[in-house]
Amino acid sequence: MKVTDEALRPVELDQQAVGRLSRMDSLQNQSLSKGLREREIVQLSQIREALERAEAGRYGLCTVCDGLIPFERLYVFPEAPECAACVT
Ligand SMILES: [Zn+2]
Repeated sequence: MKVTDEALRPVELDQQAVGRLSRMDSLQNQSLSKGLREREIVQLSQIREALERAEAGRYGLCTVCDGLIPFERLYVFPEAPECAACVT
């Protein structure tokens, strides 16, 4: 999922429709976009860390308990840093 820079720009009042409702709507959309962007940043850092673990030969090992992360979990969540039991 991509968040466009357009959606992250400061909310500007539309001169044609300055109603309070439309402004609240814009603010709500903006905070939704920010939430998505933050999730992307977290996911990106998890992917980078997974690549580092792969280089260290530790990919697929839980960073908490050192156990093997089941293939099924890596299949749906390849950057998973920990096994399902250790997810906080
Ligand atoms: Zn674990």
